Amino acid sequence: MYDVLIIGCGVTGAAAAYTLARYDLKVGIIERFNDVACATTKANSAIMHAGYDPKPESRMAPLNRRGIALAKEICDKLHVEYKPMQSLVIAFNEHDMEEVRALYERGLKNGVSVKVLDHDELMKAEPAINPAAIGALWSDDSAIINPWEFATAMAEVAVLNGAELMLSTKVENIKKNADSLTVVTDKGELETRYVINAAGCHSADIAKMVGDDRLTQTNMSGQYFVLDKAEGAKVNSVIFRCPDENGFKGILVAPTVHGNLIVGPDANPARDGDDVRTTSDILTMLKARGLESVPSINYRNIIRQYAGVRPTTQIKDFTIDISPACDRMINLAGMCSPGLSSAPAVGEEAARLLSASGLKLRAKESFKDERPPVVHLASMSADEKRALIAKNPAYGKIICRCETVTEGEIVDAIRRPITPRSIDAVKRRCRAGMGRCQGGFCSPRVHELISRELGIPMEEIPLDKDGSFIITGKTKA
Ligand SMILES: Cc1cc2nc3c(=O)[nH]c(=O)nc-3n(C[C@H](O)[C@H](O)[C@H](O)COP(=O)(O)OP(=O)(O)OC[C@H]3O[C@@H](n4cnc5c(N)ncnc54)[C@H](O)[C@@H]3O)c2cc1C
Repeated sequence: MYDVLIIGCGVTGAAAAYTLARYDLKVGIIERFNDVACATTKANSAIMHAGYDPKPESRMAPLNRRGIALAKEICDKLHVEYKPMQSLVIAFNEHDMEEVRALYERGLKNGVSVKVLDHDELMKAEPAINPAAIGALWSDDSAIINPWEFATAMAEVAVLNGAELMLSTKVENIKKNADSLTVVTDKGELETRYVINAAGCHSADIAKMVGDDRLTQTNMSGQYFVLDKAEGAKVNSVIFRCPDENGFKGILVAPTVHGNLIVGPDANPARDGDDVRTTSDILTMLKARGLESVPSINYRNIIRQYAGVRPTTQIKDFTIDISPACDRMINLAGMCSPGLSSAPAVGEEAARLLSASGLKLRAKESFKDERPPVVHLASMSADEKRALIAKNPAYGKIICRCETVTEGEIVDAIRRPITPRSIDAVKRRCRAGMGRCQGGFCSPRVHELISRELGIPMEEIPLDKDGSFIITGKTKA
């Protein structure tokens, strides 16, 4: 019997598992994909939002503020890429300036460090901005982050402290018993005292399994361009446009923690929670909007496009509660932006709700808030590199030339506490394949290394999701 089963291992489920790892509990995490952080958590703007967007009376506002404070500590402690960065909401006309002033007032109420900049102050703060901009909201409470590493790091700590992670396992139903719940998966049934619903764009379906039909998913897609590092250095801020009439943050131009540039997202209804198509009409629109903000962007340097789906519901706020239909189910639903920023605070809230629902939380003496360090050879000094290569020559063999990732780092990634079982999972752990050629040169070598390290035939290693095989068999006997 589990004490708690967490459904979904995006950043919300990972944060809940990370919080619960502190307590003497038998915790399981069920994830339908073959890796953690594989859905919305891997496809977003990667910004730790300052907190001026949410309405002060919303659930989002306090969780966003607490979340970014905790996230900074977690990233320091667990060595997750995190970079403080000023954010701007730029205005091109008086109507935009009214929005900026409204955000400023909201920011003050939410306790955010904000200022309204005039044209000259804006150009000084961010010289790359279109000089037609007349002013902006400024905040220095924001940051950029590696979102999948953030979630993976928290999940790794949970696993190292005893949580059981069940990948490639889909929850299909939940049965209510007198003193427990039976979670029915495609791999069998599991008995648990409590369930945390952290299923992202599928949270409403999970809630319905216990008879809680309050939520309707309204999932909204957002598409992006990723540009080469040649473009990333052009800006030193996260640059937003004013929010649209539905409250979605305007299209942004922002550097990533790895030095690339992203432009996006739109906000349009997704067909379903897994609809990560990119479409030429939206991408064309994004190009134009990006140039309005930063005229020097060179779209010849696009290396990839992607889309993520916001797990929105009709409630337009986070739904974080004990289900009214079943007091053994905690919902962490409606986790649209700023869900990434809020996640660690949402994890704390999940523990509080479990306790309110009757679960005894006793501190676990053996809890260790740490994970194995990650070696980034490219960021080491020449002496450090020499010393490491002398110890292990695999760190001297470059496999991914674009991102300078070595065989030693790829092997480290494969041996981490949560084993990556696809080429993209290795990419997310160590960046092999994330550069300009997008894995054109290194993917076959990464493929071989996964096969060698895990003892799995190459035919059984997918590119990404289960079933996305690259090699289906030999052409010659
Ligand atoms: C375009 C876009 C931009 C964004 N930008 C930002 C930003 O800059 N800053 C910010 O703070 N937030 C941002 N967000 C929001 C943020 O990405 C989300 O709040 C966060 O990633 C949600 O995480 P999650 O764990 O709740 O959902 P997910 O990451 O989607 O995880 C849910 C998991 O549940 C699993 N699951 C679903 N159903 C089942 C089932 N039946 N059985 C087993 N497993 C199941 C899924 O496979 C998935 O892995 C953005 C979102 C989008 C889409």
